[in-house]
Amino acid sequence: MPNRNLNLILLGPPGGGKGTQGERLQEDLELPYYATGDILRAAVRDQTEIGKAAKEYMDRGDLVPDDVIIGVIAERLESGEADHGFILDGFPRTVPQAEALDRKLSELGRQLTAVVLIDVSDEEIVHRLSGRRVCVDAGHVYHVDFNPPATEGVCDIDGSELIVRDDDEPEVVRHRLVQYHEKTAPLVDFYRKQALLNRVDGSQDPDRVGESVRSLISTFSLEEGS
Ligand code: ADP
Ligand code: ADP
Repeated sequence: MPNRNLNLILLGPPGGGKGTQGERLQEDLELPYYATGDILRAAVRDQTEIGKAAKEYMDRGDLVPDDVIIGVIAERLESGEADHGFILDGFPRTVPQAEALDRKLSELGRQLTAVVLIDVSDEEIVHRLSGRRVCVDAGHVYHVDFNPPATEGVCDIDGSELIVRDDDEPEVVRHRLVQYHEKTAPLVDFYRKQALLNRVDGSQDPDRVGESVRSLISTFSLEEGS
């Protein structure tokens, strides 16, 4: 069901299921969905200036510099396409990014509705990312055990080939997890202090996680009165 004026952040570790839930929410809520990892991978593929600036960081499993990614999101918020709400996946990932987002939204006379933390242990993440497969055309997400495609190696949605992301190699995953704990996990407290944080147990199966997220969101819209 369309849910207007919902300004939502999906927060959580790499491989926690943000993309999986984001794809579902985007369909349910009919809101613009900004997954910064997808946006950056498209920029790398198209060899844009942003892609060139981001590539080496992404390959190492480091975060790209704040100013690069803040500009990407600011542009979308200013464009008008997100005037009735948005879902952010993978942004913000640092406290300076979160502060920049707050500033941009208040400039636009808006504010966040809620942050949903999809909480998953490091152990589970390593398992999930080692089995993650994504389609080359659109980045649709699968897992060899937990969410396999109907035909091995082929995307159910667009028929393109399924591959392992370069940054899902085990040593890069370990580095991404260190980055998460150092730079992104402080956002849990940041948003808790603003009374925006809502935790969902991300270790449940994807349908269960989806139900938890959806029932949370129904309480937000009641509070919004929309
Ligand atoms: P995952 O889905 O595994 O969490 P993403 O696809 O969101 O990973 O991100 C892939 C990579 O893109 C990150 O490791 C990082 O290099 C870069 N990236 C994505 N979003 C951001 C961000 N908000 N700030 C800095 N770097 C980012
Ligand atoms: P993120 O966007 O947070 O990096 P993804 O949605 O890409 O996470 O999920 C990472 C991997 O884990 C994918 O292979 C996905 O199919 C799988 N996955 C997602 N949610 C779950 C879940 N609840 N249980 C088991 N596997 C999951």
